[in-house]
Amino acid sequence: MTHAVPGPDAGAPASPSFYGLSRTRLGDRFGELGVPRYRADQVFSWVYQKRQRDASAMSNLPAALRAKIPAVCDLSLPANPKVYATADGMTHKFVLELRDGARVESVSMRTEKRLTLCVSSQVGCALKCSFCATGLMGLKRNLRAEEIVAQVIAMGDHHAWQDERFNIVFMGMGEPLANLDAVCEAVRILHDDRGLNLGARRITVSTSGLVPQIRELAKLNLQVGLAISLHATTDELRDQLVPVNKRWPIAELLDAAREYGHTVGRRTTLEYTLLGGVNDGMADADRLAKFARALPSKVNLIPYNPVPGLPWKRPSPEAVEAFAHRLYPHAPAVTIRDTKGGELWAACGQLGGLSPS
Ligand code: SAH
Ligand code: SF4
Repeated sequence: MTHAVPGPDAGAPASPSFYGLSRTRLGDRFGELGVPRYRADQVFSWVYQKRQRDASAMSNLPAALRAKIPAVCDLSLPANPKVYATADGMTHKFVLELRDGARVESVSMRTEKRLTLCVSSQVGCALKCSFCATGLMGLKRNLRAEEIVAQVIAMGDHHAWQDERFNIVFMGMGEPLANLDAVCEAVRILHDDRGLNLGARRITVSTSGLVPQIRELAKLNLQVGLAISLHATTDELRDQLVPVNKRWPIAELLDAAREYGHTVGRRTTLEYTLLGGVNDGMADADRLAKFARALPSKVNLIPYNPVPGLPWKRPSPEAVEAFAHRLYPHAPAVTIRDTKGGELWAACGQLGGLSPS
C-alpha cells in the first residue's frame, strides 16, 4: 500500500521554522554563517527552557547574531490557538491553524498524577478505520516536524509549563507511522536535553498496524513506546473495522509488535475499542487474552466514543466491566481508558473538525 500525500509546502515562510530544526541542524545553519555551534545550544535553551521566543531578548548572544536569527530560522508559533476546556477543567482541546489554513487538533488530559498531551501527526487520515472521525475526513496532508513540536509548545504554554513531567501520545489525528520521518524528527527535537528534554519513555506512538514502519521504527531505536490499535481478534472482523488489516493481518502485526518490544525493551500496549455487540463478546475477550499473553503487553480498553453518522454503539458500563474481568486473570495488565473530552468532541477517535458547542 502506498501513502502518497499532498506536500505541506503551501504558505511556507522564507526561513525554516525553528521548531523543525534539531540542534545539529541549527548548528549547521549557524556554521554556514561562521557562527560557532555552541550558539545553537544557547538558542535552544532560550526557546525551550526559558520560553523566550524573541531573538532580540536573548541577552547572552552578541547583538549581531541576535539580528541574524530571523534570517536563519523563524521563531513564530501558530497564532492564537483556540482552546476549549471541559467543565471539570481536566481536559482541553486545542485547535491550531497552520500557515496554509489547515487545522490541527490536539488534546491535553490531566489526571492527579500527570499531564498527557495527545498530538496529531497528520491532518485527517487515509486509513479509514470504520469508527474514527479522523478517518472520515480522508487525508489532507502530513504534518511537518515543526507542526508536531508546535502542538506540544502550544499546550505547554497554555498550562504555563507547570507540570514537571508530562507524557506525549501520538494518538491525535492521523497515523503517525504513515508520517514516520516527521514524527521521528519531532521526537528527536522534543528529546534534546538542551530543549524540552523529554525522555523517550514518556512518548508513545499508536499505530493501526503499518508493519514495515514498525520494523523501521525498531531499527531507529528511539525507544518510544508502541501502542497497537488491535480492535478485533479475527482477521475477518479486523478487515472490516481496520481496513489496513487486509494488507498486514493480525499475525504479522503481532509479530512485528513482539520484535519491536524486544528491541526496545518495553511492553507493547494493545488498544481495543469496544463496540457494543460487535467485538465485546466473551470469545473476543478470550482470544484477546491469548494475544496479550503471547507478547509482553498491556491491554487498554476504549469504550467507543460516538462519532456523528456512524452506526456503532458504546457497550454498557456493565458490558465493559464484564469484558475486562474476563481478561484480568489471563492478560497481564488491563486498563479501561476513561472517556475524556467527549463533551468537546475531543475523546479518542473524535478529532475530525467537529466543533465544541
Ligand atoms: N492513528 C493512530 C492513533 C489514533 S487514535 C491509530 O489508529 O492507532 C487513538 C486510538 O483511538 C486508536 O486506537 C484508535 O483506533 C481509537 N479510536 C478511533 N476512533 C475511536 C472511537 N470512535 N472511539 C474509541 N476509540 C477510537
Ligand atoms: Fe487513522 Fe487512527 Fe483514525 Fe484509523 S483510528 S482512521 S489510523 S486516525
